[in-house]
Amino acid sequence: MSVKANIDKLRESVPANVKIVAVSKFHSNDEILEVYNDGQLLFGESRVQELIVKQPTLPADIKWHFVGSLQRNKVKFIAPFIHLIHSLDSERLMREIEKQAAVNNRKISCLLQLHVADEETKSGFSPDECRQFLAEGKWRECKHVQLAGVMGMATFTEEMEQVRGEFRLIKSLFDEFKSQHFSNDDNFKEISMGMSGDYPIAIEEGATIIRVGTLIFGER
Ligand SMILES: *Cc1c(COP(=O)(O)O)cnc(C)c1O
Repeated sequence: MSVKANIDKLRESVPANVKIVAVSKFHSNDEILEVYNDGQLLFGESRVQELIVKQPTLPADIKWHFVGSLQRNKVKFIAPFIHLIHSLDSERLMREIEKQAAVNNRKISCLLQLHVADEETKSGFSPDECRQFLAEGKWRECKHVQLAGVMGMATFTEEMEQVRGEFRLIKSLFDEFKSQHFSNDDNFKEISMGMSGDYPIAIEEGATIIRVGTLIFGER
């Protein structure tokens, strides 16, 4: 099937209020343009080096999402244009985003990345770390960072009830943070969860953004 047919089919199965980020890592500009020409404006990349090569050579109205783990020394390269960073997971990273957003006279939207899966990985706040980060309130000093919601990944497993439980936890943490810290902030509204293998469950459990690569572009 063509890339265009793939995204058309995906759209049919996704409610209109759920945003699809087309994760284009390792895929060419030609493939990206095929999806763009079908009306897709939200694209995601997970490596800064790849993103900064692609971004200037593709249409300027693409809204780029950064979905991979982000090193502080690379924030400056994406700060001029990035639309949403899905992977905020430390105070130090937040301070750097604040600094580079200010340099560019922008306010950069970020999602709090939560680590809820079984897998060992360095990225993402644990639920308690995230509670503490929010309670400390240093984020309130960062006027160029807009906290816009949460992001998470489920364990890579065939056990779909486990995946569902992890998505449910992400949603319940979102609800907790919303009521405790953002009840008056309409910008804190996004729940980014669900990829090619598990997005239907993520939508059932409350995702507002899904991040889909393989189902659109094929295997990497
Ligand atoms: C690659 C990637 C995706 C897309 O994964 P697929 O399984 O290809 O849909 C989503 N989120 C993140 C963080 C990724 O790195």
